Amino acid sequence: MNKNVLVTGGTRGMGEAIVKEFAQNGYNIIINYVKSNEKAISLKSQIEKEYKIKVLLIQADLSYEDEISKMVKTALQEFGKIDVLVNNAGIVIDKEFVDRTVEDWKQTLNVNLIAPFILTKLIGKEMVKQKNGTIINISSTNGIDTYYPSSVDYDASKSGLISLTYDSAVEFAPYVRVNCIAPGWVNTEMNKELDEEFVKEETERILVKRFGEVEEIAKVVYFLASDNASFINSSVIKVDGGWY
Ligand code: NAD
Repeated sequence: MNKNVLVTGGTRGMGEAIVKEFAQNGYNIIINYVKSNEKAISLKSQIEKEYKIKVLLIQADLSYEDEISKMVKTALQEFGKIDVLVNNAGIVIDKEFVDRTVEDWKQTLNVNLIAPFILTKLIGKEMVKQKNGTIINISSTNGIDTYYPSSVDYDASKSGLISLTYDSAVEFAPYVRVNCIAPGWVNTEMNKELDEEFVKEETERILVKRFGEVEEIAKVVYFLASDNASFINSSVIKVDGGWY
């Protein structure tokens, strides 16, 4: 029987690459998305045809607890179980430190940290019942050791996600492995507004002298979900090309 994975923010960027990686490996996929209806429908039809797997699209804004709960309920009703949860969705609001508002903080924390907590709570419990499952959180090197005052709330949310990883690994042991990936700079829409000079400076600081590609993150996510990573638990893996 095929395994099932739920990927949040699964229609573009890293999320889309993660969806394709799991599809390629025979997983049925629950794709959460918030806005891009057309993109979601075309992605579903493309990967169902190409990989002969089932895709369930669920539109849900992760800023709202009721939409998250409804999504989990629908996913369990339709697919019966969730074997892998990938907390990928995230937002960044670029604004000077001193201009940042409490509303900015709340918006960022809701999507980047509180939504992963709610999903981990709801799905982790189910994984314990089925005595099997794994959760992968997409944090960031901003949550570890790269600091940008203009994304202070984002950085805090990504540090929080690392704490959530450790705490939920303890909470759901021994049946559920919970791990975290901390990507460095990756070429996605999230970075499309970055200043050219800033990109040049950051690229100089990366040992491989380039930004990463989404597939390079997706492969690590799939590895962590697979049996090849059966002894990796409560870990944070930096995937950043070596940043100094
Ligand atoms: P992206 O902006 O292309 O993707 C973010 C996804 O999250 C989108 O699909 C978006 O629709 C979804 N999303 C945002 N708000 C949502 C909401 N309220 N409800 C549901 N979905 C929502 O960027 P990406 O680079 O692919 O980001 C994926 C993850 O990787 C994020 O958590 C991001 O913080 C993290 N990350 C990115 C980088 C990078 O350099 N691109 C580096 C480190 C970590």
